[in-house]
Amino acid sequence: MAKIVRINMTKKEVLVEAVPEKYFMLGGRGLTSQVILDEVDPLCHPLGKNNKLVIASGLLTGTTAPSSGRISIGAKSPLTGGIKESNAGGTVSRKLARLGIKAIIVEGQPEEKEMYIVKIDKNEIVLLPASGLENMGNYDTVKYLKKVHGNDVGVVSIGQAGEMLLSIASIAVTDMEGLPTRHCGRGGLGAVMGSKGIKAIVVDDEGASEQLLEIKDKEGFTAIGRNLAKTLIETKVGLKNFGTASLVDPVAAIGALPSRNYSSGDFAGKEKINGQALQNFILEKGGKYGHSCSPGCVIRCSNVVHNKDGEYLTSGLEYETLGLCGSNLEIDDLNVIGTISFKCDDYGIDTMETGVAIGIAMEAGVLTFGNGDEAIKLIDEIAEGTTLGKVLGQGATVTGKVLGVKRIPAVKGQAFAAYDPRAMKGNAYTYATTPMGADHTAGNALPGRGAWVGPVDPNKKDNYQEASRDLQIFATVLDVMGFCNFVGISPVEGEIIAQLLSKVTGEEYTLDDVKEIGMKTIKCEIKFNRLAGFTKADDRLPEFINEELLPPKNLKNDITDQEFDEVFNL
Ligand code: SF4
Repeated sequence: MAKIVRINMTKKEVLVEAVPEKYFMLGGRGLTSQVILDEVDPLCHPLGKNNKLVIASGLLTGTTAPSSGRISIGAKSPLTGGIKESNAGGTVSRKLARLGIKAIIVEGQPEEKEMYIVKIDKNEIVLLPASGLENMGNYDTVKYLKKVHGNDVGVVSIGQAGEMLLSIASIAVTDMEGLPTRHCGRGGLGAVMGSKGIKAIVVDDEGASEQLLEIKDKEGFTAIGRNLAKTLIETKVGLKNFGTASLVDPVAAIGALPSRNYSSGDFAGKEKINGQALQNFILEKGGKYGHSCSPGCVIRCSNVVHNKDGEYLTSGLEYETLGLCGSNLEIDDLNVIGTISFKCDDYGIDTMETGVAIGIAMEAGVLTFGNGDEAIKLIDEIAEGTTLGKVLGQGATVTGKVLGVKRIPAVKGQAFAAYDPRAMKGNAYTYATTPMGADHTAGNALPGRGAWVGPVDPNKKDNYQEASRDLQIFATVLDVMGFCNFVGISPVEGEIIAQLLSKVTGEEYTLDDVKEIGMKTIKCEIKFNRLAGFTKADDRLPEFINEELLPPKNLKNDITDQEFDEVFNL
């Protein structure tokens, strides 16, 4: 029987509850956002006792559907002040599903500054003091916890940044090798976890055999899942071989690769950080590509990167980190970018918000574009808690305000992803209108992608608007199901999800029903944000994007306020 675990950190009490019927067909982002709307005061302080941290497995996690093991974490965000969901791969979602845990809701907070470990196994859920783990990075935290609780446990943890309640703090999730490399990075959710006094959640699924989802036609479901896996293996070869770094060249080709704090859409050093360069670096130094970050993933876009001396450096060096901590800072050295990625994972900070904040500091003259040593030193300062480090630790928007930089690439307080919206108009719509802040995973309108409206046509402005809306709806559906974004955003995958849900329920699901699942979640998120004080004025891009021409294509934003408002004209 699926259950919800409710942990009250004021009373230090753990309750196990039955799942309310209205949550039966919700999972992942659908469940985190609905619980937040139902239970969190939209006007509460994000780091106060009235916010809640909600952790949920995807609806299909634990089934035979491929690449469906994402874990969603949600709360009111300290970075945006609105609703937030961020998801990651790793092993914990599958482990929770095997324990029959559909969601964990953490509420309240300790009166004193105390840190705890939540230990979950098939027999009990207990709070243990996190003595000795204070101010420890994610790598040492996980190493210690595995020594105490066994090598096979899954761990969700925060580093120094989460304990310091910094708005760029991420939550780490252990990967297939048991390392804290998969991150719910965006929105400062690590600070919410820190504010609840939780250093880590240790999940031991030994001996567990629960199933979160009752499937009416198991054979039919498995057959559809098997076909989907076959298609993914056959069609995602580029992602397997070159990872998301394969995006560097096409994004640069359309003039959207951020460089020099979003003052250019191309980068002279791109060939040193692209997919081929990363693959060569991995082969030369003894890393690995075609790596899976979570059980059941057949796409395997992840990688293991060793440093220039052949020692483990990081895993999952991804496009967003290459774009924001590489080209955006004019750094073209994979060893340096990999070191930044490692430090961000260890300190528990979002590589994306960090890269954009450092770009702003470079524009302010605090450090120099292209200087990797200075960038690494500044990242160390975030974990050390120096005054400058704390400023950067509050994200791009605060960094720009404190340092007097007007060009702040952010929406709703959250930094852009590594695509300049002037050269990717579909993402201009997505950044402006998603309830999440400037978030590419909310609906990444890459050229050729276009959900239900066909390929994005660069000559048709309306097509971008429709593409962004449909991509946002479909990306939300993937997040609800627990599917990785790379499963695909097209009507084909929408139909497959409809077929899977038909086999689960024994009732006929159509493509429209699937779209409705996504739209329902987005509506709930928009409602929360409106109640939190957001208005249409928050669904806009920063002024410099409307005014400055972006070389080399010399583009600027020409989308009107009305066109933004029409995306979710509810
Ligand atoms: S496709 Fe990549 S990011 Fe997605 S689950 Fe697989 S390895 Fe992880």
